[in-house]
Order: sequence, then C-alpha cells, then structure tokens
Amino acid sequence: MKQYIMALDQGTTSSRCILFNRKGQPVSMAQREFEQIYPKAGWVEQNPREIWSSQASVATEAMGRLGISVEELAGIGITNQRETTIVWDKTTGKPIYNAIVWQCRRTADRIKQLEADGMAEYIREHTGLVPDAYFSASKLAWILEHVGGARERARKGELLFGTVDTWLIWNLTKGAVFVTDYTNASRTMLFDIHKLCWDKKILDYFDIPEGMLPQVKPSSSIYGYTKASVLGGEVPIAGAAGDQQAALFGQCCFERGMVKNTYGTGSFILMNTGREAVVSGHGLLTTIAASLSDKVDYALEGSVFVAGAAIQWLRDEMRLVEDAAVTERLAQSVPDSNGVYVVPAFTGLGAPYWNPYARGAVFGITRGCSKAHFVRAALEAIAYETNDVIYAMEEDLGQPLASLKVDGGASANNFLLQFQSDITKTEVERPECVETTALGAAYLAGLATGFFQSLSDIQENWCLDRAFSPKMEESLRKEKLDGWKKAVRCALMWTE
Ligand code: ADP
Repeated sequence: MKQYIMALDQGTTSSRCILFNRKGQPVSMAQREFEQIYPKAGWVEQNPREIWSSQASVATEAMGRLGISVEELAGIGITNQRETTIVWDKTTGKPIYNAIVWQCRRTADRIKQLEADGMAEYIREHTGLVPDAYFSASKLAWILEHVGGARERARKGELLFGTVDTWLIWNLTKGAVFVTDYTNASRTMLFDIHKLCWDKKILDYFDIPEGMLPQVKPSSSIYGYTKASVLGGEVPIAGAAGDQQAALFGQCCFERGMVKNTYGTGSFILMNTGREAVVSGHGLLTTIAASLSDKVDYALEGSVFVAGAAIQWLRDEMRLVEDAAVTERLAQSVPDSNGVYVVPAFTGLGAPYWNPYARGAVFGITRGCSKAHFVRAALEAIAYETNDVIYAMEEDLGQPLASLKVDGGASANNFLLQFQSDITKTEVERPECVETTALGAAYLAGLATGFFQSLSDIQENWCLDRAFSPKMEESLRKEKLDGWKKAVRCALMWTE
C-alpha cells in the first residue's frame, strides 16, 4: 500500500521536498538553499545543475528521514518558481547558459522595443499578461541571441527550452519526457491562454523555433515515470503547477470568486474566476489556474511588492522591533494607528496603481505618535494594499469575493488578519497546514494517481486553524479607507 505523495517545491532561493500522507498532512521535510548569481546590477541567474542536484538530494533526504523507499510513494507533484528560463542541449542534457531567474531585469529594453513594435496589445490579448521582462519570452530570446551558435542550433532542433518544472521532469526521467503544464506555460508570455497552444505570432516575433518548446498538459496528469537510477525506483510524476497556482489549489480555492493571499516578502493574491478568462481593467494579470483536465480554470493575479518586507524594514532598518512576531502584540497595545499611515512603496507601487516611481512615505504623524502606532500603521498598510488588489478583482469579476484564504510567513500575525477581515469586510481563513504550495502539488499528483479520489475528498482535508470575521463599523471602515487612499495619492504625488 502506497502511503505518501512526494511534493517537490523548487523555490527561488531553496529546493524543498515534503512528503504528505492521505490526510494532506506533511510528515517529512528536507530543504536546501542554493547559490544566487548576480553577474551585473539587475541580473539574476542560477545554475540549472544545482537546481536539479539540490532538488534530487532533498527528495532522498526527505524519504530517509521517514525511513521509506520509493515503493511507498504513490506519485510525485512538482511546484516551482515561475518564469525562470533554462535552455539545454537535447542530446547531452547540458544547459547552454545559466537559468535566467524571473527577477532578472536584463531584457527590460527588449520589452520597450516590443511596445514600440506595436506588439503589447496582441500579447495582452493572447497571453493575458502585461508585457514584462519578468516572463520567460524575452529571457529565452536573449539566450538565443547571446550564446554563440544558439539560434542556429535551436533551428536545427538541437536545443530545448523549459521552465523549472520541465527541467526537473526531464531530469527525473533522464530525458524521456519533455512537458510542462498549463499554469507554467501561461507564464512564458508565449502561450495563448484561450486556445491553449503556443502562439505562432509571438514565437515568430521573438524568432523562437516551436520545436524547442515542451508539450503542454493538464496540471494533474501522469507525465511519465522516474528512471530507477534517479530515485531508486519508478514513480509516476503526476502533477505540476507554478508556485502561486499550486497554492491556490492547495488552499482548495476551486470555485469562482475564491481568493488566496500569500503574505510573504510581497503578497501574491490570486482569485479563481472559473471557466472565464476575465480581462482586467485594473492592470491585473489573467492566468491559468491549476485544473484537472484540458478544460482549464482561469485566475486573476495581482501582487504587492512590499508586504512582510515592511516588517523586515521595521526590524532591520528602523530597529523598532527585535523580531517580526512582536509586532502583533505592539499593534494590539493601542486602539488605532493614531491617524498615521505608512505607504511602503519602497520599489514603486504594483497593482492596481502600477507606478514604478512611487516611494515610501509616512503621513499623519503628530507629537503623540508612538512606536506602537507606527508599527500598527505598517501592519495595516499590508492589509490596505491587499484590499486594493482584492477590490480590483471584485470589480473585474463583477461579483464580491467568495472567501479569502491566507498563508505565508506574515499570516501568523493575528492582528493583521483581523484588520484584513475588517477592511475587506470578509471572512479570512487561515488553515492549519500553511505549506499550501507543496500541498497543492501533492493534491494534483494524488488526484491523477487515485491516491486522492476527488476534489471533495481533498476539501475535507482542509483544516481551519483560525477564522477572522469582520467587526469594524462601516463608518469607521470608510474613514480608514479614505485615509489610506489619500496617503497613496500623496505618495504618488511625490514622483510628479
Ligand atoms: P518568502 O517566502 O517571501 O521569503 P515567508 O512566507 O517566509 O516569505 O514570510 C516571511 C515574511 O513574513 C518576512 O517579510 C517577515 O517580515 C514576515 N513575517 C514573519 N512573521 C511575521 C509576523 N508574525 N508578523 C508580521 N510579519 C511577519
């Protein structure tokens, strides 16, 4: 009897492996950090070999900790940092360049060119994305252009391109399987999210031969089997999804209107919009959600650049607190922020403002402003920023959100979640298992292999840790929101 599903969680700074049981509980974990390479200001790379070796070693380690062998694994699910781009030789398996990481800005000018060439609208319409250097397309084009002979070799069919999921599956199967899933494909800026195929016009524009792109399959599907020499046996690789989509699935946001927010360094907010690919009027991205078949669900996505990072700033630069956890008690020690608003626009403002030049600001300080008020205002800002994105999603969808499920490091903060509930006027739910990204990958693999029977089977596993219900009076809520909007307006004005 196979008792476990293995989730490989290949993140930006570390590779992790978590083994889950049938109840969706994590029973063993291993993690390894790997090197970040910064060749120039604004450039970020990783060694694809190290991505693979760190991932393979934590897989073995997690099994070793539990004292099990691959025979006890029902399947493997993969979730990964999205958009990161790898090109390798089809025959030798050797990467021809480092992985270009999603954060890398080296192709920013290429995107400006694309806008000047009149391609932006086409890309928005077909890929659901706002053209940016963040996505894989311009990174792949950069490699083909700058690595000697690459374009020619790609034309001859000697090279393969993949996001990290594709690279891991290719290595797990020793080159037998070359696939990606819909969610990862939807982040390349090369994929038509409506027709569910690679977009020929965009490929032509970047001069990318279609033959180097992987086959695209549902997120829950048996892609192939691990070669015995890799993990010590043949295990079905049965699920894959980009990290944020995996978290949406792990939070059981299966229905239209359900939202998850991951409060990490930044905030990643995704709303399931069902079978409809909703076009945003507020600068949100339209993307594919993890689904079980070729009939995909879609999601709206918005991110806040600085969320938990505002608390790191209080700790490391302002030195107002010793550690992040004490902010909860400090914030609760005062009845309000005393009229203070912190706008943590350290690197500009994301959705729905999209202003890269905005900078951080604090407004409303009077002589009575204490440390507690200041800390409270910073936590409130995280909730306000999240609320702005959720409001934009509701406007785009034309209906209010169905629920808000939360995870990520800062979701441990009860004050933050209560304030979020008050300001967004919605129930906020924090699950017991906050490893939702890995869990989502495990669920996708478990459903494809029969380890889990159905979505309702999975939903039963979702255990509430704590729910937060709105308590704030409507007039006070309006007053606070007005104050926040005014503060954002002032922060934006700074750039004029
Ligand atoms: P990431 O995956 O982006 O590195 P994590 O999900 O690990 O982030 O969350 C870390 C972030 O959460 C940090 O920015 C930290 O300041 C913040 N954080 C952690 N605990 C708390 C807390 N109790 N209250 C507020 N913020 C917190």
